[in-house]
Amino acid sequence: MAVPVFRFAPSPNGRLHLGHAYSALLNQRMVEQAGGRLLLRIEDTDQTRCRPEYVAAIFEDLRWLGLTWETPVRIQSEHFADYDANLKRLWDMDAIYPCFCSRKQAAAHALSSSDPDGQPHYGRTCRNLPRDKAIRMIDAGTVHAWRLDMPGHGDVAASVWGDAVIAKRHVGSSYHIAVVTDDALQGVTDVVRGRDMEAATSLHRLLQQLLGLPSPRYVHHGLIFDEDGRKLSKSLRSTALAALRSDGVSALDIRVRLGFGPG
Ligand code: GLU
Repeated sequence: MAVPVFRFAPSPNGRLHLGHAYSALLNQRMVEQAGGRLLLRIEDTDQTRCRPEYVAAIFEDLRWLGLTWETPVRIQSEHFADYDANLKRLWDMDAIYPCFCSRKQAAAHALSSSDPDGQPHYGRTCRNLPRDKAIRMIDAGTVHAWRLDMPGHGDVAASVWGDAVIAKRHVGSSYHIAVVTDDALQGVTDVVRGRDMEAATSLHRLLQQLLGLPSPRYVHHGLIFDEDGRKLSKSLRSTALAALRSDGVSALDIRVRLGFGPG
């Protein structure tokens, strides 16, 4: 049987916190149990939010935690051509369409339902643009996002997400298409990530189906909360690994606190 491939895929838009440590350590433990391989991937397609110093901090924090991973590490911002190629395939098969609506315009055309991120479902105005006109607008450099044509192709993802944006070209952000492309290119067999990503999985499965890519196994683990029961966020200093480290907390303390015990 082929060796299972896991990955930990943080976004460098802040310092890693206890929730990331839990996800990374759980991946590591499952890799050990399965006799698998662990990849680290830097998901920095959203260049408006990601910063190089956070990439260095991810390596530092994970090394301190005792995580080991294969090199070279895949940095998504170096591979936009791969994501564009898959976008083009989806466009050629008419599964996506460019949307030229501003946030305001999209809101004006919104349906009354909304997606798991709280964004109202888009009313599909741009789906009605003739293809040649859409191509002329793209060629003229008009800012656009790419949306999935859900009624034509969706299943369970359709009712959850509506015509989801899978790529925003003008900010170089293409999270959904990038994650699906990379999991396939890197031969990932097991995706272990937080429950906050669970809703996105139906979208990822749909993209895999449309692109003819294999679907990994998915495990969505529980989230780590702070002492007051709030979800951890990158803006909270108190649970950042670097802050805990400078307060004298050891990597072993963290492992024990998160239920991974010594060693
Ligand atoms: N890059 C995402 C994040 O940091 C995780 C995506 C994934 O594991 O698929 O939230």
